[in-house]
Amino acid sequence: MERPEWKPLLERTCELALEFFDRLPERNVAPAHAPKDALAAFSGPVPEAGSEPRAVIEALVERAQPGLCAMPSGRFFGWVIGGGLPAAVAADWLTTVWDQNCGSAEGTPAAAAAELVAVRLVGELLALPATSGVLVTGGQMANFVGLAAARSAVLHQAGWDLEGDGLTGAPPVRIVVGAERHGTIDKALRMLGFGHRRLVVVEVDREGRMRADQLAAELAARDVPTIVCAQAGNVNGGAFDPMPAIADAVDAARRRAPAWLHLDGAFGLWARVSSRRQRLAADAERADSWATDAHKWLNTPYDCGIVMTRHADAHRRAMSGAAAYLPDSDAEVPSPFDYAPELSRRARGFALWAALRQLGKSGVAGLVDRTCDLAERLAAGLAAIPGVEVMNEVALNQLVVRFRDPAGVDHDGHTRAVAARVLADGSCYPSPTVWRGVAALRFSLSNWSTDAGDVTRTLDAIGRAHRGG
Ligand SMILES: *Cc1c(COP(=O)(O)O)cnc(C)c1O
Repeated sequence: MERPEWKPLLERTCELALEFFDRLPERNVAPAHAPKDALAAFSGPVPEAGSEPRAVIEALVERAQPGLCAMPSGRFFGWVIGGGLPAAVAADWLTTVWDQNCGSAEGTPAAAAAELVAVRLVGELLALPATSGVLVTGGQMANFVGLAAARSAVLHQAGWDLEGDGLTGAPPVRIVVGAERHGTIDKALRMLGFGHRRLVVVEVDREGRMRADQLAAELAARDVPTIVCAQAGNVNGGAFDPMPAIADAVDAARRRAPAWLHLDGAFGLWARVSSRRQRLAADAERADSWATDAHKWLNTPYDCGIVMTRHADAHRRAMSGAAAYLPDSDAEVPSPFDYAPELSRRARGFALWAALRQLGKSGVAGLVDRTCDLAERLAAGLAAIPGVEVMNEVALNQLVVRFRDPAGVDHDGHTRAVAARVLADGSCYPSPTVWRGVAALRFSLSNWSTDAGDVTRTLDAIGRAHRGG
C-alpha cells in the first residue's frame, strides 16, 4: 500500500459532514428510506478491484444519506436520544484517528486516564459515592455490569464463590423488579442466568413508580440473598421509583440477608445536576450500583454508557479479565478490562471528557433544565389542542400523549394514524408507544440544540396531524 493522502480524504469527509449539519435543521427528521430500501442501496458483491478512499466515502454517503434519521436534530423526540455536543463530536473523530484499544491502562494511558477521570467527574456531578466505574456501550451493558457485580456480591456474602463454582448449585437469589422496569433489565438478568419467570415483580402506580410498601412486604417475607432493581426515570413518562422508601426497605433486608440495590437511571439520574429537579432523584446515592448513559441526556455521540458501583471489589471480581499476556492493573489507573465486559474497546473517555468540559457544571444543569422547561411548554401546548391528552405528570423531559378520535370510536387507531402522519410529515419525530394499555406517542426532549422554535414547529405539526391534514 502507498502512503495514504490523508489531507484530501479528510477534507472531503469534513465537507460532507458539514453538509449533513447544514441540512439538519430543515431536512425531514424521519429517514426517507425504509429498511428494505436501505438494504437495496447497500446490496452488491465485494468489488473485484478496490477504489480510492475518497470515492469509497462518496459512495458511502450517497447510499447512506436517504436511510439516515436526523437523530441529532432538535426536533427528534424519539426514544431518549441526545445530539452530539460539538466538542464531543470532534473528540470522537480524534478517538478514531488515534485508534487506541482502551483495554489496558499500560498500553493506552491517556485513554484510560481520560476515562477514569471522566467517570469520576460524572460520579461527582451526580453526587454518587461510587468507588468504581467504567464506560460501556449503553444502559443495557451498564445494567448488565451493575447486576453482575450484584450477583457476585450477594452470593459471595452467602458463602458461595460464584467466580470459582459458577451458578449451578448456588443458593437461589431473589431478584425484585418493578412492573415498569426497562426491558434491558430483563435482558441483563437473562444474560446473568436469571430467567424472567423467576423475577419477583412489584406493582407500580399510575406513573409507573414501584410501590415501596409492596417491596417492603416482599423483602420482609423471606430472608434470602436479594437484588432489587429500581429505576430513576421511566422511559415513557419519566417517573422515578421512590428511592427513600426503597432504600429503607433494602437496608432493613440487608440486616438479615445479603442484599444489593441497583439503580437504572439511564437518563433520570441526570436530574440530580439541577437544583430545581434534584429532589426527583433524591436518595439515589443510597444504591449499591448505578447505570446511566452519556449518549442520552449528556449528548455525547453514540455510544457511551456508564456503570458505577460503591463496591469496587465486587465490581472487579465480576469483570476481572486478567490473563498472562496482559499487564496487571495498576492501582492508580486501573485497566478498564478489569471492570468492563470487553477486552478490546473504544476509548470513549475522550468524548465524555470533552462533553463535560464543553458544558461545565452550569452547562450540564442548564441543558437538563432547558429541556425540562421545553417539555413543560410542549405539554402545555399539546394539552391546549382539543382532543389531545397528556397522560403523564410532566416533571422531567418526557411526555406521553394520546389523541382522542373526533368520532369518539377508536382512540388507539386515531393515535396510531396521527403518529403515522407526523412521521410522514417529517418535521418532528416522536415515538409511538403503548402505555397503560393504550396507544400513545411519547416525546423525549434530550437534545442540547432544541429550542422554543422547535417546540412551536412541533405543535403545528402535531395539530395538523391530529386534524387529519
Ligand atoms: C434507554 C434506557 C436504557 C437502555 O439504555 P441503552 O443506552 O439504550 O442501552 C435502560 N434503562 C432506561 C431507564 C432507559 O431509559
